[in-house]
Amino acid sequence: MRNNRGFGNALTPGYWNLFTRFLGFRHHTHTHIMHIAIIGAGLAGVSAAWYLSQTGHRVTVIERDAAPALETSYANGGQISISHPEPWANPGAPMQVLRWLGKKDAPLLFRWPAEAARIRWGLEFLRECLPGRTRQNTLAIAHLAAFSGQRLKALREETGIEYNQLSRGVLHMYFSPENLHHGEQQHKILQELGIGSRMLDRDACLELEPALAHLAPHLVGAMLGSDDESGDAQRFATELARCCREAGVEFVFDTSVASIEADGQRVSGLSLRSGNGEARLLQADAYVLAAGSYSPQLMRPHGERLAIYPVKGYSTTMELAQPDKAPTVSLTDESRRIVCSRFGNRLRIAGTAELNGYNLDLDLDRCSALLRWAEDMFPGACNTAEPNYWTGLRPTTPSNLPIIGRSRLANLFYNTGHGTLGWTLACGSAQALADIMNGQQPAVDYPFWKSR
Ligand SMILES: Cc1cc2nc3c(=O)[nH]c(=O)nc-3n(C[C@H](O)[C@H](O)[C@H](O)COP(=O)(O)OP(=O)(O)OC[C@H]3O[C@@H](n4cnc5c(N)ncnc54)[C@H](O)[C@@H]3O)c2cc1C
Repeated sequence: MRNNRGFGNALTPGYWNLFTRFLGFRHHTHTHIMHIAIIGAGLAGVSAAWYLSQTGHRVTVIERDAAPALETSYANGGQISISHPEPWANPGAPMQVLRWLGKKDAPLLFRWPAEAARIRWGLEFLRECLPGRTRQNTLAIAHLAAFSGQRLKALREETGIEYNQLSRGVLHMYFSPENLHHGEQQHKILQELGIGSRMLDRDACLELEPALAHLAPHLVGAMLGSDDESGDAQRFATELARCCREAGVEFVFDTSVASIEADGQRVSGLSLRSGNGEARLLQADAYVLAAGSYSPQLMRPHGERLAIYPVKGYSTTMELAQPDKAPTVSLTDESRRIVCSRFGNRLRIAGTAELNGYNLDLDLDRCSALLRWAEDMFPGACNTAEPNYWTGLRPTTPSNLPIIGRSRLANLFYNTGHGTLGWTLACGSAQALADIMNGQQPAVDYPFWKSR
């Protein structure tokens, strides 16, 4: 699947690129300028718009909502989680899923009856649980995540954007010896990969995060992902969209892409429908599909199946009643698969996975599981009388590897399927996509998508 056919090779002589890279020139001075239309203004679409516009392209982003990041990128867990490359599909997953069966507030719920797409996705997920596949997938995600972390830091320096970011790491908390053992194994893998991580005993945890004092009797240890960060992803996307606009990117909101028009070889345009019912065709030189969980539908008529399933997750965001009782280090509770991030005077608690199609109803059992977690962990810290519940659909592939690269249509590219790690991987994915579209080899070892 490795990309080796640069679309841009027809446009940009590869040797010239290598030569100019060697001399340290900015690439956009030599990139053939294209008009690029991006479908979707979530984290994936906005980041792609940024990196593509930075190499000189004219970019138009089409978004059906009224602003960026109002769907899955709206209220996620807020973690830049480089220290968690292990995908959901791993050798322990099938047994774990069986243990959770029938529990209403289980971290993972597979609702019945299941439609064909879900069954097929589930079978592919099982295949990805084989040890060899898990190892490969973990490696690929780790490479992309580490690259993405570097790109995010560089982007922040370049643009100066603020989004309640904290660079205090992510603390993976273990409340049982089995979880601690698993954490130690993960720590070894991270060390081999050169990703920052440290095992902490109880005292070291409390020193790092005094708000955990209340939990001390139950905590058996933790791993700190020291390269990790946290922040408000929606704010990030909104701020980055503002920078994009200042750089000349055009955003077309309240407008849906009804279909991708193509002749079997190339896209000839996007059929748009605006909020007031007006229809028109938008034509560009190249196109990027970044429509999250809704990407497969747009490709189905063109004979390419994208194995992306909408895996529903929940979050609650609360104002703080007593800020000193709330953590500032971003946390992961490994036993309950819940994450928690501090955004100024707010605390976000997120988690749970539900396979139930495109349904966006709030299930109260799952909402109250998050609220209970906040009350148990940090009593009195949050204003629990006013929880802001939210649910979003993670665009998840069976391997959790995002689909980045060229589609079967010559001028259409993918930046989609980012699953559980869409923010962690956003900058790296978009930078790699821009490199591919500019006919350059991305500086990251990753199995980029190349249509068969
Ligand atoms: C509960 C939860 C917690 C999470 N926690 C984390 C975390 O801590 N760290 C992390 O890295 N990741 C996390 N994620 C994952 C991350 O949020 C997602 O991977 C990411 O938001 C996906 O971004 P996206 O741009 O691909 O999709 P989206 O944000 O859904 O963007 C797609 C956009 O495309 C638009 N669109 C779709 N179809 C069309 C159309 N036909 N025409 C026009 N526009 C269209 C949509 O309106 C939407 O705005 C979490 C997810 C959930 C649900």
